[in-house]
Amino acid sequence: AKAEGRNTYGFYTEDLTRLASQRLELETRLRRALAGGEFVVHYQPVIAVADGRLLGAEALVRWQPPGEVMVPPGAFIPIAEETGLIVALGEWVLGTACRQWREWLDTGLQPGSLAVNLSVEQIRRRDVEGMLREALHDTGLPPRWLELEITESSLMAQGEQAEALLAALKALGIGLAIDDFGTGYSSLAYLKRFSIDKLKIDRSFVQDIADDRNDLAIAAAVVAMARALDISVQAEGVETEAQLDLLRELCCGSYQGYLCSPALPADEFHARFLARR
Ligand code: C2E
Ligand code: CA
Ligand code: CA
Ligand code: CA
Repeated sequence: AKAEGRNTYGFYTEDLTRLASQRLELETRLRRALAGGEFVVHYQPVIAVADGRLLGAEALVRWQPPGEVMVPPGAFIPIAEETGLIVALGEWVLGTACRQWREWLDTGLQPGSLAVNLSVEQIRRRDVEGMLREALHDTGLPPRWLELEITESSLMAQGEQAEALLAALKALGIGLAIDDFGTGYSSLAYLKRFSIDKLKIDRSFVQDIADDRNDLAIAAAVVAMARALDISVQAEGVETEAQLDLLRELCCGSYQGYLCSPALPADEFHARFLARR
């Protein structure tokens, strides 16, 4: 809420109180939703730029309150992070997605790599290494199929804790991707320091590569740098053939985006991308 134009404390306090009680209500609803099984995981395919092959998928959580429209993560992840509920929710997403992958692998399908988002609040509040060990143990998913996505700002915010976490990921055999690459304010030094497997070029750069020379230059530079460092590159939010053509020229490895498919419920992802015809 904006403070401008409010000239009495009365207004302002009332506003804040209302906001606070709305938050509390949402938090309560989210807790109930988690206990009541109202969250679902959707999967967005990751596709090879060169030949259109399926390389894997990213797990993206949604909230489906019974009888209501599906709620996108942008509407509840920030509150889940503030309240700490992200720890339980994130653990649920991880477990659900790993179990699904194990199931598909067990039936001889080839879903590729599974990417799961990790919030900075999970790192801050939970022993992430323990969580990962548990999820891998409980689901039996071989760690080489799992990749975690962390934003560069999360990574930077963690300092030494991040280094320990990244070392643990390596030791467990789990991949690491930097999400929303290019949107943070960090130096690039960490690319050398941490062993990163993948950079995901943020959608904001991909969106205009066909029309904006600067965005094209940025994408080209990211791809070149990543190649030199032996890190793979994935473009986010690819919506047009023109964008895909340019990414192919740049030798970008993989992409996600509505051009191929949005995130899908497990059964639809299976039907469209995994089932043998
Ligand atoms: P993200 O990790 O950057 O995920 C990519 C977002 O871009 C997803 O939105 C995806 O549906 C959307 N997207 C994919 N292709 C296109 C495209 O071609 N065009 C456009 N306009 N959008 C595209 P979504 O699912 O709404 O998720 C939003 C954010 O919520 C995610 O951004 C991520 O930061 C967060 N999030 C989602 N699921 C989880 C989760 O399980 N854990 C955590 N910690 N965060 C999550
Ligand atoms: Ca992501
Ligand atoms: Ca992203
Ligand atoms: Ca994003």
